[in-house]
Amino acid sequence: MSKETLERLLQDISNTWIHPQGLHLAGGEAFLNFELLLFGVEKCRKLNLSIEYVETNAGWCLNFEIGLEKFRLLKEAGLKNILISVSPFHAETIPLKRTLAAIEAAKEVFGPENVIIYMEQFLPILARFGKEKPIPLGKWLEEFGAQKAGKIFWDGYALIPGGRAGVELGFLAPRKYPAQAFAGENCAREILLSRHAHFDPYGNYIPLFCGGLSLGKFEDLPSFVKTFDYRRLPLVKILVEEGPFGLAQFASHHFGHSFDGLFAGKCHLCVEVRNFLQKKDVFPELSPKEFYSNLRSHLPSLKNAS
Ligand code: SF4
Repeated sequence: MSKETLERLLQDISNTWIHPQGLHLAGGEAFLNFELLLFGVEKCRKLNLSIEYVETNAGWCLNFEIGLEKFRLLKEAGLKNILISVSPFHAETIPLKRTLAAIEAAKEVFGPENVIIYMEQFLPILARFGKEKPIPLGKWLEEFGAQKAGKIFWDGYALIPGGRAGVELGFLAPRKYPAQAFAGENCAREILLSRHAHFDPYGNYIPLFCGGLSLGKFEDLPSFVKTFDYRRLPLVKILVEEGPFGLAQFASHHFGHSFDGLFAGKCHLCVEVRNFLQKKDVFPELSPKEFYSNLRSHLPSLKNAS
């Protein structure tokens, strides 16, 4: 996201809602562009927008001193709390020693009570694999077997089966259902009522955790919020009124494709149907494209490991 876009977005958030709450600066990985992150924190302070936390995977934290330096700059800019991610999915690319260095430095700078470790219970499990190197997801399957690894991933991390989670790890989910099981489960609450959204670097307004589903562009947020009508977006309308099973029926009716097999949850079915529809290249709601082109990066190696 450019500095100008972020500046305008924060200004617009402040003009659009009276008391916006639970603002997170996150990613992707927010520290990849540290200058922008610092700018965002300062801007929030000037606008009196309260940041609940900045979220990081700690991949940048090569050692304790680097952690101290960056966290001190953020604290001086006005940040009070930080969230450090700990999970098999983050450890897939981040060596544990970096996560531990970041936790130690964050506690020193912000105070332990202002550091959220999400999720702390994974620290001892990750340590079993060693601290020096990232841990490919396949290693979990080798170490614990597919069934137990599946339980650790799904129940241990409370995975939401949107995005790569359902598509790549759905086969390991302890509970799976046919598409029909989601008939009648609409997404009005998630899309219209959750009061939780993500703003992506491509300018999309993404409801709740519905990655790859854009309600529109946020370049003029006040007018977007004022004039938004879900009925103008054909796929969003189906999801709001009928949920992903309705979307599967739409795909089947218009494009002759059926969604057999089992799904780890309604969001898994939704992503599979959207992934199919996105390839038709006629639904701007299915944005950004990058969400769809990155869906299946690990599948063959994981299936082999299981
Ligand atoms: S099923 Fe689709 S629209 Fe509904 S909450 Fe899940 S990802 Fe969002």
